Amino acid sequence: MRIFTFRCRIFLLLFAVILPASAAKVSWEIKEYRNHKYVPLSQVKDFYSLTSMTKSGSYIILKNSDVELKFRAGGQEVLMNNVKFIFSHAVVSLGSYHISIMDLKKVIDPVLRPFKIKAAKGFDTVIIDPGHGGKDPGAVNSLGTEANYNLKIAKLLQDNLRKRGFKVVMTRTTDVFLTLQERVKLANLYRDAIFISIHFNSVGSRARSQARGIETFTLSPVGVAHYGRGAQASDNIERMGNAQDSANIALATAVHWSSIQLLARAKLEVPDRGIRRARYSVLTGVKHPAILFEGGFMSHPKEKYLINNPTYQRTLAKSMCEAIVFYRKATMQKIGSTKR
Ligand SMILES: [Zn+2]
Repeated sequence: MRIFTFRCRIFLLLFAVILPASAAKVSWEIKEYRNHKYVPLSQVKDFYSLTSMTKSGSYIILKNSDVELKFRAGGQEVLMNNVKFIFSHAVVSLGSYHISIMDLKKVIDPVLRPFKIKAAKGFDTVIIDPGHGGKDPGAVNSLGTEANYNLKIAKLLQDNLRKRGFKVVMTRTTDVFLTLQERVKLANLYRDAIFISIHFNSVGSRARSQARGIETFTLSPVGVAHYGRGAQASDNIERMGNAQDSANIALATAVHWSSIQLLARAKLEVPDRGIRRARYSVLTGVKHPAILFEGGFMSHPKEKYLINNPTYQRTLAKSMCEAIVFYRKATMQKIGSTKR
């Protein structure tokens, strides 16, 4: 029953919106603001055949019976069916509330209409990249090293995926050092694959007691900075991974949501830090749909015990495997596009 509910809800998210006639009827009223283009939320509502737009405190909520999009005025955090996304640009008031076309095209649309993602192809190979290794242990705490935890999860995920009929390529299977370029090069030898890099987080002493939770990174679209730093000229260069912008966010959505949900059901709940944008080398260089998953904070006094817990590790691996199956189904379901 639990599994049934879980599957239904993620399908609701990924297959939610069908908008045959209404899509063509919206004539977007585009406004420029600080060198970016914005569209009104009221038109987003119409475009996706959502039936209501309401304001509750600082939140603006667009919904129909299947989908709820929750924006915060002036904020970058957006909840889409309770999955947290960090937008590239804040929601702004330009007479009425507007969002950037970048976030409409690169987040909302691929999440609501994964079957429209042209670059997403069928695949049966999953490339798993356990971060760090060898002379680079990654984060270290009193219980272990990140490199070791990453490898543990990777091996568990490999077992899960093989049972579901996937081919699995691991960038490393032992505690060895690999450069980021070597990981990218290996990944790009394969065709028709997706790429998942596995990591755990850590922060310095000042923020140590607070920072915790799961976050999933996808490559910043062209013109969007790496999370947490200002824009720089090189952000405007198109990278290999940008060809997969839409597939990247759909894959991140599936994996992120699945892990948050399955951990909560296993009573191993962790905070949701959202799906974010970054310019890590493995994300810029890999040609496949790719994400970098951060499975918790080794620096957090409680979360470090969770990360060390075999049930937590197994649940993470299982949730990723389920998500990959759903992602493949969602992107391969071309029924929606043939109807219109
Ligand atoms: Zn790491």
